[in-house]
Amino acid sequence: MTEKEYRDKLKEKQRIVVKIGSSSLTHMETGKINLEKMERLVRVLTDLLNGGREVVLVTSGAVAAGRKTLQIAGRPEEKSVKQACAAVGQARLMMLYQKLFAEYNQVTAQILLTKYTMINAVSRENAVNTFRELAKMKVIPIVNENDTVSTDEIEFGDNDTLSALVAALIKADLLILLSDIDGLYTDDPRKNKEAGLVTFVPAVTKEILAMGKGAGTSVGTGGMSSKITAAKIAVGCGADMVIANGEDIGNIRKIMEGKSIGTLFPAHRAEDFKLEDYLYTAQYPKY
Ligand code: GLU
Repeated sequence: MTEKEYRDKLKEKQRIVVKIGSSSLTHMETGKINLEKMERLVRVLTDLLNGGREVVLVTSGAVAAGRKTLQIAGRPEEKSVKQACAAVGQARLMMLYQKLFAEYNQVTAQILLTKYTMINAVSRENAVNTFRELAKMKVIPIVNENDTVSTDEIEFGDNDTLSALVAALIKADLLILLSDIDGLYTDDPRKNKEAGLVTFVPAVTKEILAMGKGAGTSVGTGGMSSKITAAKIAVGCGADMVIANGEDIGNIRKIMEGKSIGTLFPAHRAEDFKLEDYLYTAQYPKY
């Protein structure tokens, strides 16, 4: 199949996970929440749901919002401070989302996950059941990592990986990662003017993994390499994935219309795909 054919098929996607990063949700100059962008995001997602799709939002921004509220300058180094920021900021973030979604009479739910939730088969099953019920109730789940209780040993660390695992968990057919970059580049476009946007990645090869290492984003914890890891999980579990610029929230709609936006990684479900394979690493062994 050609890129165009894959892009056309995006119109038919039914269960969609959209991930938005802190850098896309905040003003670069001040670090404050970009309300206009948030409003547009809320409208687009509600519209997708109203059009008959299932929608899940994975959002960052808890630590960023908490920092602003508590007037803490810079990224907190100390874990307890970061976690306190997340505790304050997550509530604030949800308050804003609920206020904006309420404009459209859209009910939302908060789901905070940790790696424990994913690793433990019972918790994982419970999470799947919750997502299923919420979908039946036409509620939009708003997911983030439970930063207040995650520890270094067991945290996802970035919401790129988290959103891919959520996509795998709920058997989504499309994952859209909104970032502060247009997509995957052949090299870091901030350093190399010759760097070109790669619009289509039929397979996540070693070369692609190497490309990701070169181009990181400046804000947020993700960077390109975590997005490629997310792509490996998403395509392996049977979801297409698109990395696109969150600067234009309208990109979500354009992607769903089959337009050539960002980088598309088409799904090729691995028959032996097991979510567990992506949860345990040498660093975080099975316990
Ligand atoms: N979970 C973190 C937050 O909401 C962000 C993680 C990320 O930047 O990917 O602040």
